[in-house]
Amino acid sequence: MNIGLVAHDAKKKLMQNFCIAYRSILARHKLYATGTTGRLIEEATNLKVHKYLSGHLGGMQQLGAQIEHNEIDLVIFLRDPLTVKSHEPDVNVIIRMCDAHNIPLATNLASAELLIRALDRGDLEWREMYK
Ligand code: PGA
Repeated sequence: MNIGLVAHDAKKKLMQNFCIAYRSILARHKLYATGTTGRLIEEATNLKVHKYLSGHLGGMQQLGAQIEHNEIDLVIFLRDPLTVKSHEPDVNVIIRMCDAHNIPLATNLASAELLIRALDRGDLEWREMYK
């Protein structure tokens, strides 16, 4: 499956630790991430990540376009709810697109863990049929 990964600056360390903890599951899937998030995941885990541009330079839109084309099966977007981003509209686009296309989306660690375990159990196999 294709997994989209994004973390706001305040959550990047958390994303690295998440990817270290679930490395063995993530290693069986294709990973896509905004630029900085992707680089940090690669550094922490040695996993191969397809990196878009940095989020505020168009990476969010690139991820959004892939969701729109039904090419992303699951999104983990660790948002910083306390800081307003200059590219907030792009942030909201990701959430709106996941809702429009019925893509499982986690925006915090607790739901990210549930989704990744569900993925490992095969709960998202319906995505293959849907594609
Ligand atoms: P980044 O993008 O991974 O390139 O930092 C995410 C963001 O815009 O916060």
